[in-house]
Amino acid sequence: MTHLNLQQVVEHDYCVGCGLCMAQSKKGRMFETVKGTYIPDLAALTKSEIESAENFCPFAKASDIEDVVASKVFKVNNLRYLEGLGYYHKTYAGYAIEGKFREQGSSAGLVNWLCSKLLRDGYIDTIIHVKEDTSSNNKMYSYQESSDIESLQSGAKSKYYPVELSEVVKALLSQPSKKVAIVGLPCFIKALRAYEEDNLQLKEQIKFHIGIVCGHLKSKNYAKFLGWQAGIEPNNLKLIDFRTKLKKSPASRYGFTAIPRVGSEDSWIIKPMSEVVGGNWGHGVFKLTACEYCDDIMAETSDIVFGDAWLPEFVGDSGGTNIINSRSPFLSNLLQDGDDKGLIKLQELTPKRVLDSQRSGLRHRREGLSYRSGRDEALGKPFPKKRTKPNSHQLNIVRKTTYEYRELIRQTSHKSFLLAADHRDLSISLSMLKPIIESYSKISRVNLIQRIIAKAKKVLTKLVQRNSN
Ligand SMILES: Cc1cc2nc3c(=O)[nH]c(=O)nc-3n(C[C@H](O)[C@H](O)[C@H](O)COP(=O)(O)OP(=O)(O)OC[C@H]3O[C@@H](n4cnc5c(N)ncnc54)[C@H](O)[C@@H]3O)c2cc1C
Ligand code: SF4
Ligand code: SF4
Repeated sequence: MTHLNLQQVVEHDYCVGCGLCMAQSKKGRMFETVKGTYIPDLAALTKSEIESAENFCPFAKASDIEDVVASKVFKVNNLRYLEGLGYYHKTYAGYAIEGKFREQGSSAGLVNWLCSKLLRDGYIDTIIHVKEDTSSNNKMYSYQESSDIESLQSGAKSKYYPVELSEVVKALLSQPSKKVAIVGLPCFIKALRAYEEDNLQLKEQIKFHIGIVCGHLKSKNYAKFLGWQAGIEPNNLKLIDFRTKLKKSPASRYGFTAIPRVGSEDSWIIKPMSEVVGGNWGHGVFKLTACEYCDDIMAETSDIVFGDAWLPEFVGDSGGTNIINSRSPFLSNLLQDGDDKGLIKLQELTPKRVLDSQRSGLRHRREGLSYRSGRDEALGKPFPKKRTKPNSHQLNIVRKTTYEYRELIRQTSHKSFLLAADHRDLSISLSMLKPIIESYSKISRVNLIQRIIAKAKKVLTKLVQRNSN
């Protein structure tokens, strides 16, 4: 098996753009690629900074796998462990009742409710999270600090948009007395945890690592692609709100809002995701290559993780519901206290049920990753070291074809958008993507039928066994 040094991580497009390697450098900064992702300026790093980054970069050879990083933090609390979910203390479904957290949140507002609780009760000075970037015409969102509830809430909702940590981490290190909570995707939190091993000041400053469940991350061009389909050309697009709740629709049937650079609120366009190409999360348009080589969905190194309750018993509620895995007895108590006081509503779920809400993502990142890395190994192509080993799952031809199609959709989305942007003609991209997505959907239907038959066979065998006993 081949594993990557930092240079190879970037060269082979496995860099997720977290920016942490550049947080070490005074002059270095992150660059944007034409694809709309971030990569580091490795030339600005010294040899020892590169070596150090290889210990925490989530895709480099020397960095520890999630289980190792997590066990250092959570084993002390004697937490239990479930494959895929990671360590757990308490697992719940729930939503915010207090204020407008639920209404303004992606799922049910519990991430920002918890952040507000930590701020108001004085456990931390500030929250580091992702908000609209009003300082630049070139990016919609970036990591920033919020020290009051209004500022925190201006950063509610999920941003399916690349962000990087270099500047906020540099700023944090320059104020050693500041204590923070940070909200991040699983790979960002894992990189931070590993970085903190060598940087005790940072470890002391980051009091809480709040994870968000992650299916995958998109490039900046995804936002432009959505806006364009809503009738706003990329140059005229100011912002995309990726999670607009549609009243009276199930939580899973959300929309997006495209906001032009010029015009009042009347010119904002709201569209259901189901009405645009690439609105189906499972198609994985504009996905980063790194995400195809990641097997952490539940932010396994975070103190607590929040996701969408994609479960039949919750999905009908258009207000949205969170699933939660708390790995911190302290944070479990804070949530419990909120529930007791009627500020939030919690319902205990089994750890397995929490994981059930992410089954399809989990399959793509276990079975799918075993297929992708197995194929890379056969081709002699370097790939990142992960827990899921090449060819560790047996796949039939339909599953293999499914994964090949997903890859084709991903690659075509990036390339076709650049062509469309060059020619200022969205139809170029749509006409390249649509036939592939249609073929993929046919394969997915075969796949579904096979799964239903396999499940029915299992139930039947159990019944026969029970009757013969
Ligand atoms: C790229 C991405 C992929 C996701 N994939 C899934 C998935 O497959 N399955 C699933 O169940 N859930 C997924 N989520 C999480 C889900 O969309 C919600 O973020 C989560 O359920 C919390 O909802 P909430 O209403 O409690 O959050 P809110 O109360 O709305 O708060 C969200 C907080 O997250 C911060 N934030 C938003 N975007 C980012 C970002 N990119 N990086 C760091 N912080 C950010 C905000 O600044 C805010 O503080 C994903 C989120 C993102 C950003
Ligand atoms: S540390 Fe982050 S930014 Fe640096 S190479 Fe690795 S993934 Fe990319
Ligand atoms: S899928 Fe994995 S690598 Fe990609 S952004 Fe999410 S946590 Fe990071």
